[in-house]
Amino acid sequence: MYDVMIVGSGIVGLVNACMLAQHTDLRIGLLAQSLSPVWSPIEYDARVLAITPASQRIFGELGIWSFIESKRISPFTHMRVWDAYGSGKIHFNHSPALGFIVEENLIRAALYEKLITYSHVEILSDNRTCRLLIGADGAHSMVREKANIAMHTHDYHHTAIIAKVQTELPHQKTAWQCFLGSSGSLAFLPLSHSHECSIVWSTTPEEAALFLSLDETAFSEKITQAFSMQLGTVKLTSKLYSFPLHERHVKNYVKEGLALIGDAAHTLHPLAGQGVNLGIADAACLAKVIISAVNKKRDFSSLHTLRRYERNRKGHNAMMLIAVKTLKALFTSDQKSLQFLRNQGLSLTDQAIFLKKYFSQYAMGTHV
Ligand SMILES: Cc1cc2nc3c(=O)[nH]c(=O)nc-3n(C[C@H](O)[C@H](O)[C@H](O)COP(=O)(O)OP(=O)(O)OC[C@H]3O[C@@H](n4cnc5c(N)ncnc54)[C@H](O)[C@@H]3O)c2cc1C
Repeated sequence: MYDVMIVGSGIVGLVNACMLAQHTDLRIGLLAQSLSPVWSPIEYDARVLAITPASQRIFGELGIWSFIESKRISPFTHMRVWDAYGSGKIHFNHSPALGFIVEENLIRAALYEKLITYSHVEILSDNRTCRLLIGADGAHSMVREKANIAMHTHDYHHTAIIAKVQTELPHQKTAWQCFLGSSGSLAFLPLSHSHECSIVWSTTPEEAALFLSLDETAFSEKITQAFSMQLGTVKLTSKLYSFPLHERHVKNYVKEGLALIGDAAHTLHPLAGQGVNLGIADAACLAKVIISAVNKKRDFSSLHTLRRYERNRKGHNAMMLIAVKTLKALFTSDQKSLQFLRNQGLSLTDQAIFLKKYFSQYAMGTHV
């Protein structure tokens, strides 16, 4: 019998397992569907993530940030956001970094290498009996479904297209985000080479299907145009991958002997690059609640204990979901009144030092 069984070896499940293993002697089982993650110095992982300084701090506490940093990361010090259908724009900058673009398989490999150094953790391929079951099994969580936990869902009517591109001009360690009205939002995330970016284009399912049918030259032209030549000519250098986008939020994060973390508990539109960062914060918060109960010799799997985790995280995550849904509605509308409002809003915020600081701290996960 395991003390804790974590289902899912994505970033969120691995963070939770590493933190519990680092601070307790609990017998931990990690149920993994995929093989151990492999990172290649030659090929970039198609999935890259914007990691906030708050998540970086957690990786530091787990002793994996130096490993990640020694391989390949791309810190960005500037963020530029603008509306293609108006004059509204905002510019954030922060030193040493507003955030970091990191490959998903590199983070998973670093966490996995750390996890296997703990002798009280076992990586399993089938489920076993346990005192506490943690669902870190992503957006289509079986743990959530089997526990019959109610969930709110909202279809954003957007599909995200991701790809790697080469740009004529250097990216200047800047994360770029352009709002294109009904054609959605287009982000250029700077990679470690100064002329390479990962793009996330979130648009209507119909337009996304059209993009997927284009050849390399036609898509490169489309993206160069949509980005108004901000980085000169853009050339597609990878396959296109697509992800339908839904907002999800469970009614309860916990039950007696059960907790949900990360995408198993909530998913949101990638326009703010927050999904995995919220999940990492969930994983760290739940681990701290369990560690504290173990230290005080209390039942770490009781509903009473687990509710502390839910109280800490649910309200914060709900606020982020609302903020992202509002931004998506505001910035992808073709209505003239909303266009006026958002352009005024962007420009006014750009000039309001305190408001701008508040937003940048929120995006960095460092607000209190
Ligand atoms: C296009 C796009 C861009 C994004 N960009 C960003 C970004 O820049 N920054 C950011 O913070 N977030 C971003 N996100 C969100 C981010 O990708 C997710 O929030 C994050 O990957 C969720 O991590 P997770 O570990 O909770 O779930 P997952 O990564 O989905 O991992 C779940 C794991 O559980 C496993 N699993 C599932 N079922 C079982 C089972 N029955 N048994 C065992 N294992 C199981 C799966 O194989 C998987 O390994 C983006 C999302 C999209 C779609």
